[in-house]
Amino acid sequence: MARLLLTGGAGFIGSHTALVLLQAGHHLVVLDDFRNRNPVALKRVKQLSGKQITLVAGNLNDPACLERLFRGGPYGIGGSFDAVIHFAGLKAVGESVKHPLLYWQVNLEGTRLLLAAMAAAGCFSLVFSSSATLYGMPNQVPIPESAQIQPINPYGHSKAAAEQLLADLAGSSSCWRIARLRYFNPVGAHPSGLIGEDPAGIPNNLFPFVSQVAVGKRPELLIFGDDWPTIDGTGVRDYIHVMDLAEGHAAALEVLLAGAPQLLTLNLGSGEGHSVLQVLRGFEQACGRELPYRIVDRRPGDAAITVADPSLAKALLGWRTKRNLAQICTDGWAWQAANPNGYR
Ligand code: UDP
Repeated sequence: MARLLLTGGAGFIGSHTALVLLQAGHHLVVLDDFRNRNPVALKRVKQLSGKQITLVAGNLNDPACLERLFRGGPYGIGGSFDAVIHFAGLKAVGESVKHPLLYWQVNLEGTRLLLAAMAAAGCFSLVFSSSATLYGMPNQVPIPESAQIQPINPYGHSKAAAEQLLADLAGSSSCWRIARLRYFNPVGAHPSGLIGEDPAGIPNNLFPFVSQVAVGKRPELLIFGDDWPTIDGTGVRDYIHVMDLAEGHAAALEVLLAGAPQLLTLNLGSGEGHSVLQVLRGFEQACGRELPYRIVDRRPGDAAITVADPSLAKALLGWRTKRNLAQICTDGWAWQAANPNGYR
């Protein structure tokens, strides 16, 4: 049983991981600024787990907040953490193109400040939310961790820089234990339908968009191109059930807390690709009706296919995905149908 700090723990991946970690018996402090998130998510995590979470509303870019957090005191569990799981960050590609300064401030400077606070407090174990976006237009599929890092937008650049900082840190002292987890496409929801993805505004990503079409909030899905060199001409991605992803964090944490190795860099994906049309058909099965769609132009910056080679995570963590696309769609629909307006 460990004492853990989760930054950004009220978000989509953070809340599902919080549930898995609580169920594994860990004590959690969640730091979140609730910028794009709703505190109801964590209330439901508490409801599902029957356990308590210490919640701190604050911002990584506020050193005073971090210092207070690591010194303990008002936040209840004494401030000494065995490890930090760092989800907090911004992730909208289009927004990052318009506001690169913001992305570098939150994703890189926020990470640097967190690491400085950890080092000062003697906490040297970190699980970091990285992304397959680092691979840009991949040169090979499935993509191994050794593939070239070549991000193509400010969001990807900020994640690549944070990854580099973590590698530099791991090289600077043998104290550090760091896992850089490169997520592929996290989707789905907890099977209870109580927690799930709740994007602000119009969703950028396929899965929440299809969910909103299914629940009647959007008139139709726009499919960005049907002339890609793929099985049916639509883009192919590696969709990973958010509960599989959450379990991947728990497995990485266990390995870190057991002491070795010092720097883990792992793809978290299923190793299987699905096209936009396959996701749409899967969702139609789950919700029991046909969903309207229209083919439009390709979206700038999209790759045809990104699929993980997840064999390293399997070898080092003993982890692999257990839930398939049908489960993803069933659970995603259970969440969306029960919460048409997300947590609002
Ligand atoms: N996509 C689409 N319509 C949408 C959103 C996404 O056709 O409204 C396609 C997109 O072109 C890609 C796939 O769905 O082929 C997954 O896109 P998403 O943005 O979810 O993930 P990413 O491209 O960042 O991996």
